[in-house]
Amino acid sequence: MGSTGSIGTQALEIVRANPERLQVEVLTAQNNADLLIKQALEFEPNAVVIADKAKYQYVKDALDKHDIKVFAGADALTQVVQMDTIDIVLAAIVGFAGLKSTIAAIEAGKPVALANKETLVVAGALVTNLAKEKGVNIFPVDSEHSAIFQCLAGEFHNKIEKIILTASGGPFRGKDKKFLSTVTKENALKHPNWTMGAKITIDSATMMNKGLEIIEAGWLFSLKPEQIEVIIHPQSIVHSLVQFEDGSIKAQLGLPDMRLPIQYALFYPQRVPSTFTRFDFTSYPNLSFEKADAETFPALSLAREAMNKGGNLPCVLNAANEVAVGAFLNDEISFLDIADVVEKSMQKASFIAKPSLEDYTKSDEETRKIASVLTTNKVRA
Ligand code: NAD
Ligand code: MG
Repeated sequence: MGSTGSIGTQALEIVRANPERLQVEVLTAQNNADLLIKQALEFEPNAVVIADKAKYQYVKDALDKHDIKVFAGADALTQVVQMDTIDIVLAAIVGFAGLKSTIAAIEAGKPVALANKETLVVAGALVTNLAKEKGVNIFPVDSEHSAIFQCLAGEFHNKIEKIILTASGGPFRGKDKKFLSTVTKENALKHPNWTMGAKITIDSATMMNKGLEIIEAGWLFSLKPEQIEVIIHPQSIVHSLVQFEDGSIKAQLGLPDMRLPIQYALFYPQRVPSTFTRFDFTSYPNLSFEKADAETFPALSLAREAMNKGGNLPCVLNAANEVAVGAFLNDEISFLDIADVVEKSMQKASFIAKPSLEDYTKSDEETRKIASVLTTNKVRA
């Protein structure tokens, strides 16, 4: 799901390198029809979905002479994941848009390799309960959560005292609010260590990405908010750490390369050989760690607040953030406005203590309206 994105294309590199182990059944994209067609011609899946219905005929015509089914629209996304021939679903759509297909995959008993962290942020209780009920595994793809998952191998009966999520600090690490008030989208899109989709790159610059990852970790590893610590580690070599009850800490290290966590999730519990560049300690004589600056980057505290209050508040946080990041990428609001829109939306949206899936959809829609008004007011101001 989301094969044309940053995670999707890297996942296909892994398929290309492991043709005897992996076969693609379905590929999906929002509107990058040309790349979807190219991928379909190379990997010959059973079916493709182009979510944007306006592109259906174009994709259909291009794949006409091939034995590949073509579907369009958001509903098709939830249908294809349930196909009998699928063994595992890689959820790599960005944002709330990935929620329904991930739920549909779990409902059909398919294990999920989860990159789409927003799914757990929005509806963590619902998704993890459903997975338990269906006996379905969710394998983390997010590098920090993969690191924790790897540290937990052989430790499943040992209690976690706490986990430490590492954060690079993004392009604006060490800067103050005055500096941040002048930064542009071009500045924010330059991540020091990772090349990723636009939305997560902006989330990394605001630190909302780490906020979302705190919530994601809470659901994946059944942790209380106070068991999740964040530490800035500018080199992105230590991908995260677990501290056990005897005080021992385990970490997972490697060069920043998403193909490793994607591959680990797809092949778990096996580690298969790779040709990825190996980490060399002498090239990194200094691995450093520093405290996160929650004052300058309020997104971190907003995410913690959403996690503590629970209910639909993380869903509200996510929806407002998606709208604000979109507006920032359209040059409509400033960098500092992003967290401001999220904070005000969290104050305005209706609170639901125990939301159903329908409630989440409604809350997402309501918040998008609230956040859009807030961003429009900022444009006028
Ligand atoms: P991206 O923008 O590069 O790709 C997103 C993919 O989702 C594309 O294939 C796009 O066509 C599809 N998509 C977007 N909107 C859609 C919609 N409404 N309906 C159907 N499909 C839609 O994003 P990415 O960087 O690959 O990130 C994907 C997910 O993985 C995000 O949740 C992100 O937080 C997470 N993640 C990414 C990275 C990374 O290195 N890129 C690392 C960790 C986690
Ligand atoms: Mg991450």
